[in-house]
Amino acid sequence: MVTTLRIDKLLTCILLFGSMAGCATNPVTGRSELAFVGESTEIAIGQQQYRPSQQSQGGLYLADPSLSRYVSEVGARLAAVSDRSLPYEFVVLNESTPNAWALPGGKIAVNRGLLLALNNEAELAAVLGHEIVHSAARHGAQAMQRGTLLQGAILATSIAADDSEYADYIVGAAQLSSQLIHMRYGRDKELESDKFGIEYMVRAGYDPGAAVTLQETFARMSETKDPGWLAGLFSSHPPSLTRLEANRNHVANLESRPDLEIGKERYEQHLAYLLSVSEAYRAFDRSQFLLSEDKPESALKALTRAQEIEPREARFYGAMGDIYRQLEKFEDAYDAYKRALELDNGYYQYYLGRGLNSAQTGELSAAETDLKKSNELLPTATATTALGNLALKNGRPGEAKGYYRTAMQAGGNIGQTAKVSFIKLDLPDNPGAYISVHPRIVNGYLGATLINQSGIDVSDVRVKFTVNLADQSRSKIVSLKSLQRSSALNSGWRMNQSDDLRNVTVKTISASI
Ligand SMILES: [Zn+2]
Repeated sequence: MVTTLRIDKLLTCILLFGSMAGCATNPVTGRSELAFVGESTEIAIGQQQYRPSQQSQGGLYLADPSLSRYVSEVGARLAAVSDRSLPYEFVVLNESTPNAWALPGGKIAVNRGLLLALNNEAELAAVLGHEIVHSAARHGAQAMQRGTLLQGAILATSIAADDSEYADYIVGAAQLSSQLIHMRYGRDKELESDKFGIEYMVRAGYDPGAAVTLQETFARMSETKDPGWLAGLFSSHPPSLTRLEANRNHVANLESRPDLEIGKERYEQHLAYLLSVSEAYRAFDRSQFLLSEDKPESALKALTRAQEIEPREARFYGAMGDIYRQLEKFEDAYDAYKRALELDNGYYQYYLGRGLNSAQTGELSAAETDLKKSNELLPTATATTALGNLALKNGRPGEAKGYYRTAMQAGGNIGQTAKVSFIKLDLPDNPGAYISVHPRIVNGYLGATLINQSGIDVSDVRVKFTVNLADQSRSKIVSLKSLQRSSALNSGWRMNQSDDLRNVTVKTISASI
């Protein structure tokens, strides 16, 4: 806010950016900077994108609710001493890939897989402190201002939700969530987050040495080239000696205080349950790998093992439902999805799976309800295409077209399939949008070249020729039985010279698929 800006800062800002509009002091660094994305926008974006971001990253970890509460408490302890008051929230995501992220407006998440890699509460504080700085220092908002995300929007269509067996793609406004959580802020911002994150640790009473041991763990793990790590935290936070050295130097310059804590025992207590069932998650991850290798029976065995160790985990049942559905054991699939939803009724994949299952067994109304619910949680091209197919079956082609148009935003096969479905419905309504006609004179006869841009073979194309010569207008409709890529058409009318083409119009008036 301009009123709280010190006058010298304001002058710097005007000198740097040539305008007073949008100038603000960064709440963390104290530097003057542009702030076109205002605080209320930042907060609104974080609030809107938090749920789809969680959904696309495994959903909430619910099997041990006390773990989420604990992480929230540690987060709140750091947020309370941060430089900026925001509606901070912290969740644990049900995902083995070690990762953590922050959305604008203080919405933060840490994966179950990262928690298992940490040694104590102070290391958790180092992770959360770093993420708090990303939010507090407006790193996401600045990236949005720079237009990094706008460029990303073009790429967004090809970003798939992680570890999805449906090859789901996010569609609609929630695509932004994908960009925000996969964003690379750049080395300077990472160093800034480390530096101020360490400050927050100290203010909150944590031993900052944990920020160094954390980086050492990361450096060690990056050497193993673990694909999980490479896909997760390291894809947005490449471990570097620069970061490790910077943290070491920063911590070495702080005066040592005996009151600062590591919280090893407390951390171990809170992680004990997850650790005791970690073999179940390894079996689950193995099942997903086996499935990708097209070994559904072995995948089922791994899931049965996972369920024996941890019967409270909904994901294991959801994954089983997906395999049964793939094997066309629809009743078993239905039961597995039902069990998954009893354990967790807030994760899109179970509704999506059960909806697709019901569509396959002809229970169209149940299918529609589930697919809509799935889209409420996370709009995917898979659910949207399936809803389009249902609308078409129920005699609502206009509605189907709308669904297909949305699903077309997705990349890959699913986007392509939706596009074909859309064109099939749209082409008879707007033939001119797909079939262009170019008049020409061949051997003295008026004809036209038709180019079919739809990518689909069409039939019964009707083209109308209109000629205005000597104040006389004549028109004629010529049909073509089938059209693939392109074709020539003759009107049968003689024309004197090519100049006359100026007086000719040709239009595709109808076509069928
Ligand atoms: Zn970071």
